[in-house]
Amino acid sequence: ESAPETVKPAKAVPRSKVKLTHPDRIYWPDAGVTKEGLADYYTQVWRRIAPFVVNRPLALLRCPTGITGQTFFQKHAWKGLNNNIRLVDDPKEPGDPLISIDSLDGLIGLVQSAALEIHPWGSSLEDWERPDMITIDLDPGVGVDWPRIIEAAKEVRQRLTDAGLAAFVKTSGGKGLHVVAPLKPHATWPEVKAFTKGMAAAMASDTPAKYVATMAKAKRKGKILIDYLRNQRGATAVAAYSSRARAGAAVSTPLSWDELGPEIGPAHFTVSNLPARLDGLAADPWEDFRAAAVPLKLK
Ligand code: ATP
Ligand code: MN
Ligand code: MN
Repeated sequence: ESAPETVKPAKAVPRSKVKLTHPDRIYWPDAGVTKEGLADYYTQVWRRIAPFVVNRPLALLRCPTGITGQTFFQKHAWKGLNNNIRLVDDPKEPGDPLISIDSLDGLIGLVQSAALEIHPWGSSLEDWERPDMITIDLDPGVGVDWPRIIEAAKEVRQRLTDAGLAAFVKTSGGKGLHVVAPLKPHATWPEVKAFTKGMAAAMASDTPAKYVATMAKAKRKGKILIDYLRNQRGATAVAAYSSRARAGAAVSTPLSWDELGPEIGPAHFTVSNLPARLDGLAADPWEDFRAAAVPLKLK
């Protein structure tokens, strides 16, 4: 005898039980995106974003009245935090807990807390001292056009590949691109920082007309800053699939390398149009992200 058939939607989307206060509050006036709209977005992309936001320390850009009001970049937990959000002690700085989530309810709890951007560490709670990803943040100075940012991303990819790493690319949702390499946790933060600093410095010394590796704003005109400083203990970078608190409700969006081109700018994909993109894609461009992780080889 066969079991009764159950009717199941093709792609079951989980639901969160977290109650939103003021669901109609407008977070992005220009794009018409509300708090509830953001919660719906995160519910739809939960399966994709989870590997990048679950069980790691998170910094949050909070915007209680939306992107046009006052904003707070918050690295620590606060009183009255939604109870689906976990407090975690940094083993090196106990007593001032950091923020973490372990479920969709936690993610919607972040929306309830008006977190319009989610910025994880590059290491997980399982191994705080050994990062499981590298993020190279490409920051264009004034006068740098999009094709040159793409060219820089491809050069970073080549250099990471030469070092034995896999490289993935995402829009920042702002002005640039982020090249991200998954790591098997092995090298420590100081080792990973030294590796990325060396790579940035090599690009700047090989092609000084195009790249700089130091933060000084004055030196950046017409050049791209290879910002390697996301790769140190306690530093963060915006998560893949996180919304940005900027006009248009852009999202930091994983792309495949061959999608890079003039049609897709750094803020092309948004809370409003990304779910349709994901539904229409034959394969997730970052499908192999975790499987491609290798340990950073130390010299
Ligand atoms: P863009 O493409 O516009 O550069 P981005 O996300 O790369 O977008 P950056 O200005 O380069 O933005 O910021 C890099 C990272 O610095 C952010 O992703 C974030 O994790 C971190 N950051 C941002 N604001 C703060 C802040 N107020 N304090 C500390 N770190 C911050
Ligand atoms: Mn940047
Ligand atoms: Mn930067």
